[in-house]
Amino acid sequence: MSLTDRAPAHVRAIAPYQPGKPISELARELGLDEASIVKLASNENPLGVSEPALAAMTRALADVTRYPDGSAFELKAAISRRFGVQPAQVVLGNGSNDVLEIAARAFLTAADSAVYSRHAFAVYPLVVQAIGARGIEVPARDFGHDLPAMLAAIGPDTRVVFIANPNNPTGTFIEGAALERFIAAVPEDVLVVLDEAYTDYLPEALRYDSVGWLGRFPNLLVSRTLAKAYGLAGLRVGFGLAAPSVVDLLDRVRQPFNVNSIAQAGAIAVLDDLEFLRRSCEVNRAGMAQVTAGLAALGLEWIPSFANFVTVRVGPAAEVFQRLLRAGVIVRPVAGYGLPEYLRVSIGTEAENRRFLEALGTVIGAVPGVPRRQPGSAR
Ligand SMILES: *Cc1c(COP(=O)(O)O)cnc(C)c1O
Repeated sequence: MSLTDRAPAHVRAIAPYQPGKPISELARELGLDEASIVKLASNENPLGVSEPALAAMTRALADVTRYPDGSAFELKAAISRRFGVQPAQVVLGNGSNDVLEIAARAFLTAADSAVYSRHAFAVYPLVVQAIGARGIEVPARDFGHDLPAMLAAIGPDTRVVFIANPNNPTGTFIEGAALERFIAAVPEDVLVVLDEAYTDYLPEALRYDSVGWLGRFPNLLVSRTLAKAYGLAGLRVGFGLAAPSVVDLLDRVRQPFNVNSIAQAGAIAVLDDLEFLRRSCEVNRAGMAQVTAGLAALGLEWIPSFANFVTVRVGPAAEVFQRLLRAGVIVRPVAGYGLPEYLRVSIGTEAENRRFLEALGTVIGAVPGVPRRQPGSAR
């Protein structure tokens, strides 16, 4: 038997995460100028980097000879001030992806199971499978989480439930009251990981106080990221908020220096840049209106989204995706999420959205089998 054959079966069975195609890769493949490519594939922030964050990171460069502060005193203090929690309730991640993985490693063994929804974030099955635990995928309802079905799926061996709100790649949203009832009904010895990567984009009327629930639910872990609305995807900073006893466990399996010193400096600065956050949400709101109006004009159908992307039904999605690439527009196929007829497009700047809509209009005019309503009719 070869070395790789001897790797655990549950590791060999993992289907690797498929990230959005990098601009540099498409430029190489097509011989295109990078500047001519529009990437709307990874839900990145089209505003670029917050100025105060950039300045703080530049200053931090001078100190990279030292290890970072492993307990991230200043960053935890900043998160604590901003979200009204104790520093002992904060666990930091190299991206919130890291927080999800740490949670799985801290609470799951190969004898346990974890519950998540169909069409939910791909990282949940990945981190569960890496441990050899059993993933229980619950069928979706209107592309979103079916909370009663998820509750019913929790078995005696279930230790973790993952919820993304809003969800990626569908953009669906669960109202706070329903979520709160769900968490209250989950057994106390099951961890609820509430992944709120896109919560900053919610309009005021839909906001709910998940951080305020922490006092009542010692089995709740709220996960947040600086990759989306805060515009620092490449920096890799996320954090989890939970009871100190949960954070203590998570910290035991966390790499001691998982958030580097430049990332800590940038994160501290961006958390104070509320003007950047406000502009992110404003640009996203306007861009979402622009993109959905454009999709309606093309007669396409999409899943109503509460995040910074929209998932649109195009029929032969692989073909449409390839043709968009050739037009210099990178979007995200979501067949791996059980949505083979759909493509996910991130909301960009006004000009990027326009480039996407123009390219999409041309492509679907050339590809047979794209399901369309009368162009211009209401959805
Ligand atoms: C983007 C995303 C994340 C995490 O991103 P990080 O860059 O690792 O912080 C987490 N959950 C969902 C649902 C996401 O879409």
